[in-house]
Amino acid sequence: MTPYSGRFAPSPTGPLHLGSLVAALGSYLDAKANSGLWLLRIEDIDPPREMAGAKELILRQLEDHGLYWDSTAIYQSQRLDTYQEYFDHLKNNQHLYACDCPRHRIRDLNGIYDGHCRDLNLSFDSDAAIRVLLSEKNIGWNDLILGPQSFSFDELGGDFIVRRRDGLFSYQLAVAVDDGLEGITHVIRGADLLDSTARQTYLHKLFGLSSPEYGHLPMVMNNQGQKLSKQTHAPELDSNKSRENLALALNILGQNPPRDISENSCEEIIAWAIHHWNINSVPTKPVEPSN
Ligand SMILES: [Zn+2]
Repeated sequence: MTPYSGRFAPSPTGPLHLGSLVAALGSYLDAKANSGLWLLRIEDIDPPREMAGAKELILRQLEDHGLYWDSTAIYQSQRLDTYQEYFDHLKNNQHLYACDCPRHRIRDLNGIYDGHCRDLNLSFDSDAAIRVLLSEKNIGWNDLILGPQSFSFDELGGDFIVRRRDGLFSYQLAVAVDDGLEGITHVIRGADLLDSTARQTYLHKLFGLSSPEYGHLPMVMNNQGQKLSKQTHAPELDSNKSRENLALALNILGQNPPRDISENSCEEIIAWAIHHWNINSVPTKPVEPSN
């Protein structure tokens, strides 16, 4: 049996909020309850979207909540040569093509790309986006939390981008490479990334890397029914309330902690949570916390 390796992989676009704590804690608990490793990867592959100081802040927020990662954190910004290698592999095997469709054309297609540039043989050296040529219609997996999943690539937007117009590798390519090469066996993350899982699983096949098992945690909503995120102005996780935050996250994860659990230290709360972790109790629908 392969030993369990899990991971948490935040993008440093801002500080962690409650939704990110739920993802961090869910992945941590599933790893530790299975005597696994919990690795940390900072997905700093998109400098224009980064917030200055967010990397350091995220590390501190995790530690303030008693969440310590195994091994040294990995930074995607230091792995561009590896992404280039895997990009070249796709290119050399005719899985890629250049697309110079203007943004408004994709918008007019409601974001579902129609393969317009597939056979045009446009140059990779221009400032075109590079897309992967999908040769399968559907992809699926047996989700550890949601059960059997099946996605149609047409509905997800068709041939997706692996290198952007600005020359940056896409999130999909970088994450598929990293999960494969790091030997990640289990990815526990938010259900907002279901469509990414479909794409990344497809890339694993093309790379010849094995896919981890996936489990998707409920999205955490605000009281206006929006997913907590930087865009919806989710408040920064307050380290002065770390014990209360952990208790709330455990409730969101359906773990039913004792009502007074936040009177304990972070270490004690986490020890309780590892011991009682039950992935089958994790809700399969978005959660709006009551306070
Ligand atoms: Zn195109």
